[in-house]
Amino acid sequence: MNIDNVYIEKRVENHSNTQKILERIKFQNIIICNSYSEVFNPSNQNFRIQKKYPSLILAKKENSFIKETPPDFTIGYKKNYYFSHMLNCPFDCKYCYLQGMFNSANYLIFVNYEDFYNPIQTLIKKNKEKLCFFSGYDCDSLALENITGFLENLVNNFHIFDGGFLELRSKSTNVKLLSAIKPINNLIPAFSLNPQFIIKEFESGTPNLVKRLSVIKSLQEKGWNIGVRFDPIIWLGDQSRYEFFFKEVFKDLDIRKIHSITLGSFRMPTKYLKKLSKIRPSDSFIQSAYVQQSFRRSSKELNNEVKSFCKKQILKFVEKEKLFEN
Ligand code: SF4
Repeated sequence: MNIDNVYIEKRVENHSNTQKILERIKFQNIIICNSYSEVFNPSNQNFRIQKKYPSLILAKKENSFIKETPPDFTIGYKKNYYFSHMLNCPFDCKYCYLQGMFNSANYLIFVNYEDFYNPIQTLIKKNKEKLCFFSGYDCDSLALENITGFLENLVNNFHIFDGGFLELRSKSTNVKLLSAIKPINNLIPAFSLNPQFIIKEFESGTPNLVKRLSVIKSLQEKGWNIGVRFDPIIWLGDQSRYEFFFKEVFKDLDIRKIHSITLGSFRMPTKYLKKLSKIRPSDSFIQSAYVQQSFRRSSKELNNEVKSFCKKQILKFVEKEKLFEN
Protein backbone atom coordinates (compact mmCIF):
# COMPACT_ATOMS: atom_id res chain seq x y z
CA MET A 1 0.00 0.00 0.00
CA ASN A 2 1.26 3.48 -0.88
CA ILE A 3 0.58 6.24 1.62
CA ASP A 4 1.86 9.79 1.32
CA ASN A 5 1.71 10.93 4.92
CA VAL A 6 2.09 8.89 8.06
CA TYR A 7 1.27 10.78 11.25
CA ILE A 8 2.74 9.22 14.39
CA GLU A 9 2.00 10.21 17.95
CA LYS A 10 5.28 10.90 19.69
CA ARG A 11 4.47 8.45 22.49
CA VAL A 12 4.17 5.49 20.08
CA GLU A 13 7.09 6.41 17.84
CA ASN A 14 9.14 3.52 19.22
CA HIS A 15 6.32 1.05 19.80
CA SER A 16 7.12 -2.31 18.18
CA ASN A 17 3.81 -2.29 16.24
CA THR A 18 4.58 1.18 14.84
CA GLN A 19 7.89 -0.10 13.56
CA LYS A 20 6.31 -3.24 12.07
CA ILE A 21 3.58 -1.22 10.31
CA LEU A 22 6.15 1.15 8.80
CA GLU A 23 8.04 -1.85 7.43
CA ARG A 24 4.87 -3.10 5.69
CA ILE A 25 4.00 0.08 3.74
CA LYS A 26 5.54 2.50 1.27
CA PHE A 27 5.26 6.10 2.38
CA GLN A 28 6.57 9.58 1.57
CA ASN A 29 6.59 11.52 4.84
CA ILE A 30 6.50 10.86 8.55
CA ILE A 31 4.99 13.61 10.64
CA ILE A 32 5.29 13.38 14.42
CA CYS A 33 2.34 14.81 16.35
CA ASN A 34 1.29 15.06 19.99
CA SER A 35 -2.19 13.63 19.64
CA TYR A 36 -4.09 11.94 16.81
CA SER A 37 -7.03 14.22 17.55
CA GLU A 38 -5.09 17.16 16.03
CA VAL A 39 -5.25 15.36 12.67
CA PHE A 40 -8.37 13.22 12.91
CA ASN A 41 -10.91 15.39 14.67
CA PRO A 42 -10.93 18.88 13.06
CA SER A 43 -14.30 19.49 11.46
CA ASN A 44 -13.09 21.41 8.41
CA GLN A 45 -11.92 18.28 6.55
CA ASN A 46 -13.29 16.94 3.28
CA PHE A 47 -14.18 13.27 3.81
CA ARG A 48 -14.61 12.54 0.09
CA ILE A 49 -11.21 13.95 -0.90
CA GLN A 50 -9.46 12.22 1.99
CA LYS A 51 -11.10 8.95 0.97
CA LYS A 52 -9.14 9.14 -2.30
CA TYR A 53 -5.77 9.84 -0.63
CA PRO A 54 -5.98 8.68 2.97
CA SER A 55 -3.13 9.30 5.36
CA LEU A 56 -2.21 6.83 8.06
CA ILE A 57 -2.28 7.83 11.72
CA LEU A 58 -0.57 5.69 14.35
CA ALA A 59 -1.71 6.45 17.86
CA LYS A 60 -2.22 5.12 21.36
CA LYS A 61 -5.68 4.33 22.70
CA GLU A 62 -5.94 5.52 26.28
CA ASN A 63 -9.34 4.42 27.54
CA SER A 64 -12.79 3.06 26.62
CA PHE A 65 -11.19 0.01 25.04
CA ILE A 66 -14.39 -2.04 25.17
CA LYS A 67 -17.95 -0.75 24.75
CA GLU A 68 -21.37 -2.35 25.02
CA THR A 69 -23.22 -2.88 21.74
CA PRO A 70 -26.78 -1.57 21.30
CA PRO A 71 -29.22 -3.93 23.10
CA ASP A 72 -30.56 -5.78 20.02
CA PHE A 73 -27.14 -6.37 18.46
CA THR A 74 -26.55 -10.07 19.07
CA ILE A 75 -25.63 -13.38 17.48
CA GLY A 76 -27.19 -15.41 20.26
CA TYR A 77 -25.32 -14.29 23.36
CA LYS A 78 -26.89 -12.12 26.03
CA LYS A 79 -23.99 -9.77 26.68
CA ASN A 80 -22.27 -8.16 23.74
CA TYR A 81 -19.34 -5.78 23.46
CA TYR A 82 -17.27 -4.26 20.69
CA PHE A 83 -13.85 -2.80 20.28
CA SER A 84 -12.01 -0.99 17.51
CA HIS A 85 -8.27 -1.25 17.03
CA MET A 86 -8.74 0.92 13.97
CA LEU A 87 -11.09 3.62 12.68
CA ASN A 88 -12.07 3.76 8.99
CA CYS A 89 -11.68 1.32 6.18
CA PRO A 90 -10.20 1.08 2.67
CA PHE A 91 -13.57 0.30 1.07
CA ASP A 92 -16.08 3.00 0.17
CA CYS A 93 -19.64 1.82 0.73
CA LYS A 94 -22.15 4.53 -0.09
CA TYR A 95 -24.20 3.69 2.98
CA CYS A 96 -21.27 3.50 5.43
CA TYR A 97 -22.13 5.21 8.71
CA LEU A 98 -18.48 6.01 9.42
CA GLN A 99 -18.79 8.89 6.93
CA GLY A 100 -21.43 10.37 9.19
CA MET A 101 -19.58 9.62 12.40
CA PHE A 102 -16.04 10.84 11.61
CA ASN A 103 -14.73 14.08 10.14
CA SER A 104 -11.77 12.29 8.62
CA ALA A 105 -11.38 9.38 6.20
CA ASN A 106 -7.76 8.83 7.25
CA TYR A 107 -6.87 5.40 8.63
CA LEU A 108 -6.34 5.63 12.37
CA ILE A 109 -4.65 2.60 13.94
CA PHE A 110 -4.28 2.25 17.71
CA VAL A 111 -0.99 0.38 17.88
CA ASN A 112 -1.13 -0.56 21.58
CA TYR A 113 -3.01 -3.81 20.84
CA GLU A 114 -1.82 -5.33 24.12
CA ASP A 115 -3.86 -2.78 26.10
CA PHE A 116 -7.14 -4.20 24.73
CA TYR A 117 -6.47 -7.58 26.30
CA ASN A 118 -6.76 -6.84 30.02
CA PRO A 119 -10.20 -5.20 29.81
CA ILE A 120 -11.46 -8.14 27.70
CA GLN A 121 -10.15 -10.71 30.14
CA THR A 122 -11.46 -8.82 33.15
CA LEU A 123 -14.96 -8.63 31.64
CA ILE A 124 -14.97 -12.34 30.82
CA LYS A 125 -13.81 -13.30 34.33
CA LYS A 126 -16.36 -11.01 35.98
CA ASN A 127 -19.35 -12.49 34.12
CA LYS A 128 -20.89 -15.90 34.57
CA GLU A 129 -22.59 -15.77 31.16
CA LYS A 130 -20.74 -16.21 27.88
CA LEU A 131 -19.78 -12.84 26.44
CA CYS A 132 -19.49 -12.00 22.78
CA PHE A 133 -17.07 -9.40 21.44
CA PHE A 134 -17.28 -7.79 18.00
CA SER A 135 -14.30 -6.49 16.12
CA GLY A 136 -14.81 -4.51 12.94
CA TYR A 137 -17.48 -2.17 14.25
CA ASP A 138 -15.69 1.05 13.25
CA CYS A 139 -13.52 -0.47 10.52
CA ASP A 140 -13.33 -3.72 8.55
CA SER A 141 -11.74 -6.50 10.62
CA LEU A 142 -9.68 -8.11 7.87
CA ALA A 143 -9.23 -5.61 5.04
CA LEU A 144 -6.01 -4.01 6.33
CA GLU A 145 -4.61 -7.00 8.24
CA ASN A 146 -1.56 -7.03 5.94
CA ILE A 147 -0.64 -3.65 7.40
CA THR A 148 -1.94 -3.77 10.96
CA GLY A 149 -1.03 -7.35 11.94
CA PHE A 150 -3.80 -7.00 14.54
CA LEU A 151 -5.41 -10.37 13.94
CA GLU A 152 -2.06 -12.12 14.05
CA ASN A 153 -1.37 -10.48 17.41
CA LEU A 154 -4.84 -11.44 18.64
CA VAL A 155 -4.56 -15.05 17.52
CA ASN A 156 -1.23 -15.36 19.34
CA ASN A 157 -2.93 -14.15 22.52
CA PHE A 158 -6.29 -15.84 21.96
CA HIS A 159 -6.36 -17.44 25.43
CA ILE A 160 -7.77 -14.08 26.62
CA PHE A 161 -11.07 -15.07 24.98
CA ASP A 162 -11.38 -18.34 26.95
CA GLY A 163 -15.00 -18.34 28.12
CA GLY A 164 -16.03 -15.77 25.50
CA PHE A 165 -16.52 -15.40 21.75
CA LEU A 166 -15.07 -13.06 19.19
CA GLU A 167 -16.68 -12.15 15.87
CA LEU A 168 -14.48 -10.73 13.11
CA ARG A 169 -16.79 -8.97 10.66
CA SER A 170 -15.58 -8.19 7.17
CA LYS A 171 -16.35 -7.68 3.50
CA SER A 172 -12.77 -8.53 2.68
CA THR A 173 -11.51 -11.84 1.32
CA ASN A 174 -8.17 -11.39 3.03
CA VAL A 175 -8.30 -14.67 4.96
CA LYS A 176 -4.71 -15.86 4.47
CA LEU A 177 -4.07 -16.02 8.19
CA LEU A 178 -7.34 -17.79 9.03
CA SER A 179 -6.74 -20.33 6.25
CA ALA A 180 -3.30 -21.11 7.65
CA ILE A 181 -4.31 -21.88 11.24
CA LYS A 182 -6.46 -24.53 12.88
CA PRO A 183 -10.06 -23.33 13.36
CA ILE A 184 -10.71 -21.82 16.78
CA ASN A 185 -14.16 -22.65 18.14
CA ASN A 186 -14.82 -19.31 19.78
CA LEU A 187 -13.48 -17.19 16.91
CA ILE A 188 -16.17 -16.48 14.32
CA PRO A 189 -15.17 -15.01 10.97
CA ALA A 190 -18.29 -13.29 9.63
CA PHE A 191 -18.92 -11.94 6.14
CA SER A 192 -21.35 -9.22 5.09
CA LEU A 193 -23.28 -10.05 1.93
CA ASN A 194 -25.60 -8.23 -0.46
CA PRO A 195 -26.74 -9.14 -3.98
CA GLN A 196 -24.09 -8.52 -6.66
CA PHE A 197 -26.05 -5.65 -8.25
CA ILE A 198 -25.99 -3.92 -4.84
CA ILE A 199 -22.29 -4.63 -4.31
CA LYS A 200 -21.56 -3.12 -7.73
CA GLU A 201 -23.59 -0.01 -7.09
CA PHE A 202 -23.07 0.56 -3.36
CA GLU A 203 -19.94 -1.18 -2.07
CA SER A 204 -17.11 0.37 -3.99
CA GLY A 205 -13.76 -1.39 -3.76
CA THR A 206 -15.10 -4.53 -2.06
CA PRO A 207 -14.71 -8.08 -3.39
CA ASN A 208 -17.64 -9.31 -5.46
CA LEU A 209 -20.23 -11.79 -4.18
CA VAL A 210 -18.70 -14.79 -5.95
CA LYS A 211 -15.32 -14.14 -4.30
CA ARG A 212 -16.86 -13.67 -0.86
CA LEU A 213 -18.86 -16.89 -1.17
CA SER A 214 -15.85 -18.81 -2.39
CA VAL A 215 -13.81 -17.62 0.62
CA ILE A 216 -16.60 -18.61 3.03
CA LYS A 217 -16.79 -22.02 1.40
CA SER A 218 -13.05 -22.57 1.61
CA LEU A 219 -12.95 -21.59 5.29
CA GLN A 220 -15.88 -23.92 6.01
CA GLU A 221 -13.99 -26.72 4.27
CA LYS A 222 -11.07 -26.05 6.60
CA GLY A 223 -13.43 -26.45 9.56
CA TRP A 224 -14.36 -22.85 10.43
CA ASN A 225 -17.89 -21.96 11.53
CA ILE A 226 -18.85 -18.83 9.65
CA GLY A 227 -21.17 -15.94 10.39
CA VAL A 228 -23.30 -14.77 7.46
CA ARG A 229 -24.37 -11.14 7.74
CA PHE A 230 -27.18 -9.58 5.70
CA ASP A 231 -26.80 -6.41 7.64
CA PRO A 232 -27.61 -3.99 6.28
CA ILE A 233 -29.46 -5.58 3.43
CA ILE A 234 -29.78 -2.78 0.89
CA TRP A 235 -33.21 -2.97 -0.66
CA LEU A 236 -34.03 -1.74 -4.15
CA GLY A 237 -37.45 -3.30 -4.33
CA ASP A 238 -37.35 -6.13 -6.87
CA GLN A 239 -38.22 -9.21 -4.80
CA SER A 240 -37.27 -11.76 -7.47
CA ARG A 241 -33.66 -10.53 -7.54
CA TYR A 242 -33.39 -10.97 -3.76
CA GLU A 243 -35.00 -14.38 -3.91
CA PHE A 244 -32.35 -15.38 -6.45
CA PHE A 245 -29.64 -13.90 -4.21
CA PHE A 246 -30.58 -15.96 -1.14
CA LYS A 247 -30.68 -19.12 -3.26
CA GLU A 248 -27.24 -18.28 -4.66
CA VAL A 249 -25.81 -17.76 -1.17
CA PHE A 250 -27.10 -20.94 0.41
CA LYS A 251 -26.78 -23.38 -2.48
CA ASP A 252 -23.02 -23.91 -2.04
CA LEU A 253 -22.46 -23.20 1.64
CA ASP A 254 -22.33 -25.88 4.30
CA ILE A 255 -25.37 -24.99 6.41
CA ARG A 256 -24.02 -26.99 9.37
CA LYS A 257 -20.95 -24.77 9.40
CA ILE A 258 -22.89 -21.53 9.58
CA HIS A 259 -22.53 -20.23 13.12
CA SER A 260 -25.27 -17.59 12.80
CA ILE A 261 -27.02 -15.31 10.36
CA THR A 262 -27.97 -11.73 11.03
CA LEU A 263 -30.52 -9.69 9.15
CA GLY A 264 -30.81 -5.94 9.42
CA SER A 265 -32.20 -3.19 7.25
CA PHE A 266 -30.40 0.06 6.48
CA ARG A 267 -30.56 2.35 9.51
CA MET A 268 -28.51 5.26 10.71
CA PRO A 269 -28.85 8.01 13.33
CA THR A 270 -30.47 11.02 11.65
CA LYS A 271 -27.47 13.21 12.57
CA TYR A 272 -25.12 10.98 10.54
CA LEU A 273 -27.59 10.63 7.67
CA LYS A 274 -27.89 14.40 7.47
CA LYS A 275 -24.11 14.66 7.17
CA LEU A 276 -24.03 11.94 4.50
CA SER A 277 -26.69 13.73 2.51
CA LYS A 278 -24.36 16.75 2.44
CA ILE A 279 -21.21 14.93 1.41
CA ARG A 280 -23.02 12.76 -1.16
CA PRO A 281 -25.39 15.34 -2.67
CA SER A 282 -26.01 13.43 -5.90
CA ASP A 283 -26.56 10.01 -4.34
CA SER A 284 -30.24 9.18 -4.77
CA PHE A 285 -30.24 6.32 -2.23
CA ILE A 286 -28.82 8.49 0.57
CA GLN A 287 -31.02 11.44 -0.36
CA SER A 288 -34.20 9.37 -0.35
CA ALA A 289 -33.19 7.60 2.89
CA TYR A 290 -32.74 11.02 4.48
CA VAL A 291 -36.15 12.19 3.30
CA GLN A 292 -37.77 8.89 4.41
CA GLN A 293 -36.18 9.03 7.82
CA SER A 294 -37.80 12.40 8.34
CA PHE A 295 -41.10 10.46 8.09
CA ARG A 296 -40.08 7.82 10.59
CA ARG A 297 -43.24 5.75 10.45
CA SER A 298 -43.25 5.02 6.76
CA SER A 299 -39.55 4.12 6.75
CA LYS A 300 -40.11 1.75 9.70
CA GLU A 301 -43.00 0.05 7.94
CA LEU A 302 -40.92 -0.42 4.81
CA ASN A 303 -38.04 -1.88 6.84
CA ASN A 304 -40.38 -4.36 8.53
CA GLU A 305 -41.77 -5.46 5.17
CA VAL A 306 -38.28 -5.94 3.74
CA LYS A 307 -37.11 -7.86 6.78
CA SER A 308 -40.10 -10.14 6.81
CA PHE A 309 -39.63 -10.96 3.10
CA CYS A 310 -35.91 -11.66 3.59
CA LYS A 311 -36.55 -13.70 6.72
CA LYS A 312 -38.97 -15.92 4.82
CA GLN A 313 -36.35 -16.50 2.13
CA ILE A 314 -33.55 -17.29 4.62
CA LEU A 315 -35.70 -19.71 6.60
CA LYS A 316 -36.19 -21.80 3.46
CA PHE A 317 -32.54 -22.85 3.94
CA VAL A 318 -31.59 -22.40 7.60
CA GLU A 319 -33.25 -23.24 10.91
CA LYS A 320 -34.69 -20.27 12.76
CA GLU A 321 -32.42 -20.71 15.80
CA LYS A 322 -29.52 -19.46 13.71
CA LEU A 323 -31.19 -16.29 12.52
CA PHE A 324 -30.97 -13.02 14.48
CA GLU A 325 -32.65 -9.79 13.51
CA ASN A 326 -30.76 -6.62 14.30
S1 SF4 B 1 -16.82 -2.23 4.53
FE1 SF4 B 1 -17.96 -1.52 6.32
S2 SF4 B 1 -16.60 -0.04 7.29
FE2 SF4 B 1 -15.84 -0.34 5.20
S3 SF4 B 1 -16.82 1.27 3.97
FE3 SF4 B 1 -18.11 -0.55 3.84
S4 SF4 B 1 -19.64 -0.31 5.47
FE4 SF4 B 1 -17.94 1.11 5.91
